[in-house]
Amino acid sequence: MNTEKSVRSLEKIVALCKRRGFVYPSAEIYGGLNGVYDFGHLGSIIKSNLRQAWIESLQNSFGPIVMFEGALLGPEAVWKASGHVDHFSDPMVDCLNCKRRFRADDPDVAKGCPACGKKDSWTPVRQFNMMFKTEVGAAADGSSIAYLRPETAQAIFINFKNVLSTTRVKIPFGIAQIGKAFRNEITPKQFLFRMREFEQMEMEWFCHADGAQKYFEFWCAHRLNFYRMIGIDMNNIRQRPHEKDELAHYSTCCTDVEYNFPFGWKEMEGIAHRGTFDLTQHSKFSGKDLSVFDEETKTSFVPTVVECSVGTDRAFLMLLFDAYAEDVVEGETRIVLRLAPRMAPVKAAILPLTKKQTEPATKLYEDLKKLGHQIEFDESGSIGKRYRRQDEIGTPVCITYDFDSDNDQCVTVRDRDTTKQERIALDQVAAYIKKMLGK
Ligand code: ATP
Repeated sequence: MNTEKSVRSLEKIVALCKRRGFVYPSAEIYGGLNGVYDFGHLGSIIKSNLRQAWIESLQNSFGPIVMFEGALLGPEAVWKASGHVDHFSDPMVDCLNCKRRFRADDPDVAKGCPACGKKDSWTPVRQFNMMFKTEVGAAADGSSIAYLRPETAQAIFINFKNVLSTTRVKIPFGIAQIGKAFRNEITPKQFLFRMREFEQMEMEWFCHADGAQKYFEFWCAHRLNFYRMIGIDMNNIRQRPHEKDELAHYSTCCTDVEYNFPFGWKEMEGIAHRGTFDLTQHSKFSGKDLSVFDEETKTSFVPTVVECSVGTDRAFLMLLFDAYAEDVVEGETRIVLRLAPRMAPVKAAILPLTKKQTEPATKLYEDLKKLGHQIEFDESGSIGKRYRRQDEIGTPVCITYDFDSDNDQCVTVRDRDTTKQERIALDQVAAYIKKMLGK
């Protein structure tokens, strides 16, 4: 068998996602909405596996980390304090020839207009604020302006005192949140890589300034566990500390976790030492005290924050790229997603060889479903075709109930990656799947 990973390309991943119902362009029957996607059955299961793994990777660290779910809409005051109203913008230029709009810092723009090819025909660079602005309520005045959040973190900062006083946590501790964020990206591209509506998994770690650098280094090291847990080839992961001129003025250090996509090493996650900036700003703008009293030193201090922020959809894209392979089985090229079993949307498929085995195979299917995992039952089409479908969606094992199964009470289990088959007793199948999932 010949496994070839260099065959992966964005076009192939997009086609696979559509063909197998992982991801659809949003509002497709109306022509779609650029940078916005819907997730189908298998796609939403993979996303929920990612969320679960992320939560587990945090629980497996140290110190208390509590969960949080903030609102998507926030009043203008929040975004003024956070600096987003004034500074959350990208430089933009328009092509004077075809009128298309691009990010001025896009390396392709330096070569000429990516749409019409015209060279040196640009408007002056303007700043474009990426937040989605709206009005809340019937009265359209200044006080009703609200924004869809461009990151999930601010909801955590403004609730910091609520969480502290209601969850019996003490500094240092973390608040973790998974939720949608919205950015009116000038040029959404590379499928799920740069979207206008996307999901973030963010954890804000609140600590004393004295220990913050140590925690920053700890989180940089610890976050790699998440990528190991979800089965990413660690040769495709690297960390890139930011240069001084890339840092926000309040941040002393920041490291990106990057993945080696076919279109280059790209940011998956940002780990940032944010100092006391966020709580200080919200304290100043809201007039509320967000400092903490230290019993030991009998002094108040504003906690320092270390942030770990990863995009769920970007992680989804990474997962598919990393798992995608093509090889030759019995003279035919097949596409296979070599997903770690815990990330696979379907854990096993029950395939009766002919309709004659439907009944006992259905019983096995019903029994296995009780494990609480997604199990599929498929009796239509040739067995080869059914295997191919399961390979493409990353199902780790296919279980065939065949002509001998009634007599020997055994089934054939086929491994997705090696295509090797072994015969195991019917009453051992559940244990086999549990072992495969490390349970
Ligand atoms: P980029 O430089 O790629 O625009 P960023 O540095 O602005 O990203 P952050 O604000 O640090 O991103 O957001 C944290 C994480 O959220 C990113 O590492 C990424 O995984 C995800 N993310 C950010 N913007 C998008 C987007 N437009 N589409 C999908 N995921 C995104």
